[in-house]
Amino acid sequence: MGVRGDRLSSHYLPALMFLRGCYTFSSPILGACLELHSMSEISTPTQRTRVAREPERAVYDREAAYRILDEGFICHVGFSVDEQPFVIPTSYGRKDANLYIHGSAASRMLRQLKQAVPVCVTITLLDGLVLARSVFNHSMNYRSVVVIGKATLVDDPSEKLAALRVLSEHILPGRWDDVRQPNEGELKATSVLRLPIEEFSAKVRTGPPIDDEEDYSFPTWAGVIPLEIAAGEPISESRLKAGRAAPEYARKYSRVQTRARA
Ligand SMILES: Cc1cc2nc3c(=O)[nH]c(=O)nc-3n(C[C@H](O)[C@H](O)[C@H](O)COP(=O)(O)OP(=O)(O)OC[C@H]3O[C@@H](n4cnc5c(N)ncnc54)[C@H](O)[C@@H]3O)c2cc1C
Repeated sequence: MGVRGDRLSSHYLPALMFLRGCYTFSSPILGACLELHSMSEISTPTQRTRVAREPERAVYDREAAYRILDEGFICHVGFSVDEQPFVIPTSYGRKDANLYIHGSAASRMLRQLKQAVPVCVTITLLDGLVLARSVFNHSMNYRSVVVIGKATLVDDPSEKLAALRVLSEHILPGRWDDVRQPNEGELKATSVLRLPIEEFSAKVRTGPPIDDEEDYSFPTWAGVIPLEIAAGEPISESRLKAGRAAPEYARKYSRVQTRARA
């Protein structure tokens, strides 16, 4: 994907393009954009979290970042071992100003991170493919958050259980109370890490493609292919007791609903 369209918007029409992007779609993204304009706590980016390119797309508002974090549930965790970077996909949950990640106590990621090594966690929501008239100006609509810092092990048993519940409810609200609770062995085999959302940035691109003026007469289709996570019909497991129907939270699963509830 090219990026020249992005550069044009940042050089010539930053605020205008941002607003145009926000008001182009009547969707939850519009809500997200509008909310960005009534931001509450704006954090000051550090040298490490200041978005350099397309800075008008940067969002340092905590509540806006939380909305992105609450809609997603997959993150990519970047850390370095012996000078080799690794970026591992995993799930997460958020409660207040903390991200929680969990996994096998034996996993390299969890073993490394609990030693308080620097970590970078990225969450990306892909909202659309942006098709311009030139290859170069193609882009994507997205909302993303980067959190950097050091994670710590949640070792207090009641906090650990609460954090696991946060993770579960973040991904599938309503499930935790419906299933067998973790036993001592399972808890022992699981590590939970807490990463404070202190040093963070978000970045949002919305709106149509931005073509070079001379390309607007080029005879091809241009616009946006919206993308979103859509849940299918739940598929019952073969050993399910007769008459056991899928619960509502499974039948009506939606990340947008999750976001609205948050
Ligand atoms: C789905 C998707 C597709 C993208 N496609 C392209 C592409 O094709 N080409 C391209 O150049 N860029 C693309 N980007 C944007 C890319 O993520 C960076 O923003 C971009 O590389 C510019 O980085 P930089 O040099 O300004 O900042 P960097 O120096 O790389 O980062 C500085 C700091 O800015 C913040 N930051 C940077 N990017 C983001 C972000 N996306 N979200 C939250 N915080 C951020 C972080 O805190 C980071 O530590 C895409 C982003 C997404 C989510």
